[in-house]
Formats: sequence, structure tokens, C-alpha cells
Amino acid sequence: MIAPETRAALVTGGTSGIGLAIARRLQSDGLRVAVLDLDRPHAREVAAGHGLTFIPGDLTRREDCARAVEGTVAALGGLDVLVNNAGFQHIAPLADFPEDTWDAMLHVMLTAPFLLSKYAWAHLTRSGQGRIINVASIHGHVASPYKSAYVSAKHGLIGLTRTAALEAGDQGLTVNAICPAYVRTPLVENQIRDQARTRGMSEEEVEGKVLLEAAAIKRLLDPEDVAALVGYVASPAAWGMTGAVLDLDLGWTAR
Ligand code: NAD
Repeated sequence: MIAPETRAALVTGGTSGIGLAIARRLQSDGLRVAVLDLDRPHAREVAAGHGLTFIPGDLTRREDCARAVEGTVAALGGLDVLVNNAGFQHIAPLADFPEDTWDAMLHVMLTAPFLLSKYAWAHLTRSGQGRIINVASIHGHVASPYKSAYVSAKHGLIGLTRTAALEAGDQGLTVNAICPAYVRTPLVENQIRDQARTRGMSEEEVEGKVLLEAAAIKRLLDPEDVAALVGYVASPAAWGMTGAVLDLDLGWTAR
């Protein structure tokens, strides 16, 4: 057993929204934390402002996935907790869906989690308390029109989670997926603005009547709500939870 404060974590997409909240949560739980994100001045500033190690990388590129693992291990001395969080949304009818965008979305949200898990495997299994935590979505269970790439990637990520969990079980490495409903982040705020404009509704109406129509609790989650669940899954106490698909979905899938 090693103490949690000696562990090192890498959070992808860790300078915005849910990823930043997760990085800060793991940091406050005593882990050393690196955040991978696209190499932009703002991302570097956010990381530096929170004392997080910045790993520049574009997850559409295979070589950046390999470099990210090497960079994290070089900076933090190991890699015990991998949080595959980076993602983005593109909304378009399937018949018009841009093929390059499909490729990029599948790469960032499904292939990169596979590559990072593969490249980091030897490090993640070293402590006997390794964790892979995949941020999927309610769209890993259900579909919405015009989100073919997003829904496909998130369904796939749940399959990857379960398979990796079966392979990692005897090495003290757990692999779990977290499936939030809508969380108030830049990704969702842009969607609310777009939908309000195209539907001629107020932003409050879009939230309650469009986004949260199927939810029992008509309130957006905050990034910290997701981070709290990740904090538990990353903790030594969660050693027995693996292959789990954890819904934080406001009652969405209860019906
Ligand atoms: P966000 O836009 O605030 O953050 C996403 C981060 O991913 C950004 O920092 C972005 O730069 C990074 N990223 C995107 N493409 C990248 C690439 N090619 N290489 C490296 N980094 C890249 O979004 P968020 O809402 O915080 O979403 C985080 C994760 O949570 C995503 O996987 C998303 O699908 C999932 N999720 C979000 C919601 C929600 O309602 N916001 C709900 C369920 C699941």
C-alpha cells in the first residue's frame, strides 16, 4: 500500500470545465496532477494559475498520446491515475456530418483513451492502486439526434472501460466510467446559446424544456459534482469498484 499523496494523475482536457474541476479535486486530495490540453496560452495560464503541470497535446494525434505519458512520468515521477476526460461536441444531421469531424471526435473521445491506457499501462499497474477513469456521458447509454459521432464515441468508451477492467483486475488497477447528464461548462453553455437562438426560446427555457426534458431533477450539474465522484473512484477506498458505469444523470435513465 502506498499513501494517496504519493500518487500522480493525468487529466486530459484538464484546463476547462469538468476536467479542471477533476484536476483540482485530485490535487486537493493530495495527488500530484498534470493536465493535458491543446497548446493554447489560456490553457497554459489556467494550469499555471492552479499549480498544475501542463502537458501540451492534441489528442487527435497518436504521437501526442505517447508523448503525454512520457511527459507526465518525467514531470511527476510516475502515473497512477489516468482520467480520460477531453471531448467536444458537434451537432449535425448524419447525412451532412463532416467526415473529418467524425474522425477527430472518435479519436479524441475513444481512440485516445485506448492509446493513453495502453501506453500508461505499465505505470498504472505499478502501485497496485492504479485507476483509469473514463468520463463518458449519459450519451454512452442513450442517443440524441444529430449527435452521431458523440453518441458513438461515448457508447464505445463504455465498452473499452469494461474490457480494460477485466484485463486489469489482477493488477490492482481499476477501470470505471462516469456518465453525467448535462453539466454547466463552456461546452454546454455554447449549446444553450445556440439552441436558444435557433428555437427562438430563452436560455432558461432551453435548459428546462429541451436539455433537461427527460431528467427527473431539472437542474444542471456543476463540474464539482462530477469531480467529487471521480475523487471517490480515485481513492484507495474504491479498490473493489471496477468495470462500473456510474450514472450521475439527474434521473435521466430511470424511466
Ligand atoms: P469543455 O469544452 O469545458 O472541456 C473539454 C476540454 O477538452 C477542453 O479543455 C478542450 O481543449 C479539450 N480538448 C478538446 N479537444 C482536444 C484535443 N484534440 N486534444 C486535447 N484536448 C482537447 O467540456 P466539458 O463539458 O468539461 O467536457 C469534458 C468531458 O465531459 C467531455 O468528454 C464531455 O463529453 C463530457 N461530458 C460533458 C457533459 C456536459 O454536460 N458538459 C456531460 C456529459 C459528459
